[in-house]
Amino acid sequence: MSFSTLGLSEKVLAAVEASGYTEPTAIQAGAIPYVLERRDVLGIAQTGTGKTASFTLPMITLLEKGRARARMPRTLILEPTRELAAQVEDNFNRYGVNHKLNVALLIGGVSFAEQDRKLERGADVLIATPGRLLDHFERGKLLLQGVDILVIDEADRMLDMGFIPDIERICKLIPFTRQTLFFSATMPSEIQRLTDTFLQNPAKVEVAKASSTAETVNQRIVASEPEDYEKRAKLRELIEGADDLQNAIVFCNRKRDVATLFRSLVRHEFSVGALHGDMDQRSRMTMLDNFKKGNIKVLVASDVAARGLDIPSVSHVFNFDLPIQAEDYVHRIGRTGRAGRDGTAISIVTGKDEKALQAINETIGKELEWIGDPLDFSIPVEEKKPRRRSTRGQRDKNRSRRAKTETQEPAVQETESLPAGLEEQPIVPMHTERRAPAPRARGGRRTSQPKDEAIFRNASHIPAFLLKPARSKVQSH
Ligand code: AMP
Repeated sequence: MSFSTLGLSEKVLAAVEASGYTEPTAIQAGAIPYVLERRDVLGIAQTGTGKTASFTLPMITLLEKGRARARMPRTLILEPTRELAAQVEDNFNRYGVNHKLNVALLIGGVSFAEQDRKLERGADVLIATPGRLLDHFERGKLLLQGVDILVIDEADRMLDMGFIPDIERICKLIPFTRQTLFFSATMPSEIQRLTDTFLQNPAKVEVAKASSTAETVNQRIVASEPEDYEKRAKLRELIEGADDLQNAIVFCNRKRDVATLFRSLVRHEFSVGALHGDMDQRSRMTMLDNFKKGNIKVLVASDVAARGLDIPSVSHVFNFDLPIQAEDYVHRIGRTGRAGRDGTAISIVTGKDEKALQAINETIGKELEWIGDPLDFSIPVEEKKPRRRSTRGQRDKNRSRRAKTETQEPAVQETESLPAGLEEQPIVPMHTERRAPAPRARGGRRTSQPKDEAIFRNASHIPAFLLKPARSKVQSH
């Protein structure tokens, strides 16, 4: 099927062609004709399916008629997070290149004055998070009577985040005659109730769920000892050994592990960034932007980054930890293999992960394949003591063992737990300029000079806040 059969305007088709897309995805083919017919749409689809363009493309077509009036946006798109709102704005910029659309973004962390100015000019498209939208409304700077099309995106995430009362309020502020486009990956009863109340005879378009959309992802697991330093070594081995790695997201279960792993990868000369929910908005956006532009090759992230973010081409996802919820596994690996592209997802599995692995296998409906020898879960997990507490005798033994296998590896220090208050901030030591890592002996973890030099180049683009010196204790071994 081609885009030209869907009823989109010539100008929109030209923009789609310019962005290199030749065929609509299932949600696009299903939803676009209904949107253009001015029907309400209930789209059951998640990010990665091309869902955003399924509403932005027909909206731009419909917006060709008419013009915006001051403080009266013509269309409103509600998004649960600032990142998603910014991504939708990017979509309008990309597909609206042949139009003169005024797109306004109302998200937290940006000054009201600047946003007011945009509203004052008259917005064709207003993209907002629910809280910020209501703030503007209550300040009397925004009139919602002119909204013809309302989009509620990622409704189940809105539910998770407690936004449903805000959504209900907003729906009541917009004329009943509007067209409503509603998207959700799942349909729990609260969401069903919302659609029953606010949609009128919607056309329902459902596309494959995450477990089947991930067909293009090559999913594997690899065994590791349970200690974090062993897992870090395993991860480095995986990153360095991947011939086709363009960029990667590495998921950790806990925010503090994001920080620790991030610092460890910096010390090992990787081009790395970190992303988690406690970082301020500006830092998150800068980080994401750098990752999208390819300035950062490896992004260490907590689950906040797993849902919703549109990072068009991520070649690899690594699970440093197996997620506690099997659902999260599906969301994490959904960051790669998007919109029909191939992707690779490799998860590190330790003896402690038997149950988590079982749950994932059940959820995805197949047994994940091992790289190398499978783990024998019948052997009880005996976690080695942290290296910093090793006895002198053990230290000597370790030292001579390391000397045998890793003689050429630069000394790498692993950091102890972070001091209070700094736990959740990724921190890079001052000395970011280092010599390139030497190759390791065969049988060691690195066998040759890195294939992709960029991965190891030190990142001069790392924002200043990340370059604060770590006040943590550093343990030498
Ligand atoms: P979304 O589900 O909207 O987050 O989109 C997922 C990714 O698919 C984004 O990077 C889009 O740029 C990309 N995409 C959207 N539509 C298409 C298409 N028709 N063909 C290929 N890629 C697409």
